[in-house]
Amino acid sequence: MYTLPKLNFDYADLEPIIDARTMEIHHTKHHLGYINKLIAGLEEYPELMKKDINELLRDFKNLPDEVKKTVRNNGGGHANHTLFWSILTPSKQAGPSGDLLLAIENSFGSFGEFKKQFETAAAGQFGSGWGWLIKNDKGDLEIITTANQDSPLMDGLLPILGIDVWEHAYYLNYQNRRPDYLSSIWKIINWEQVDKYFSK
Ligand code: MN
Repeated sequence: MYTLPKLNFDYADLEPIIDARTMEIHHTKHHLGYINKLIAGLEEYPELMKKDINELLRDFKNLPDEVKKTVRNNGGGHANHTLFWSILTPSKQAGPSGDLLLAIENSFGSFGEFKKQFETAAAGQFGSGWGWLIKNDKGDLEIITTANQDSPLMDGLLPILGIDVWEHAYYLNYQNRRPDYLSSIWKIINWEQVDKYFSK
């Protein structure tokens, strides 16, 4: 059964980068909405409901056609938001280090260049979607974007950092200024957690 994950911090803890009201609505309305719709959509497939959400998305191509739409939209919504909350933190972080930093430097030149490329890509995602740092099957890092709630897991990619660029993620603080939201968000990234996903 799919359940709303508890956050490791209070809704107000990410201020002023993300305001408390946005966090609360995002977590208790948007994320929970995806979970409830996923559960309703899988009602007749109890064996699928037992699977881990990431496993379900990795196996997307083999799912029955009747459930593909709900797994893509609502299952993706559940997995993406679960990852998003986990890579946010109110505690000061030094930035990536060790093998993760080396991999970032190998792929993008420097951490600063990585941030610049990520912000450009995520700001340029037309409409709703996500910006991602993913590890591909060769173990290399890439920046990609996906539309709507599409998960990189459906394409065999491992997301290690994902930033929600739907307007509901930033509108109260930033309105139409998505680039400002993106340039601010580095202050609340939990690089220890990103490193855990990278090292898997
Ligand atoms: Mn969202």
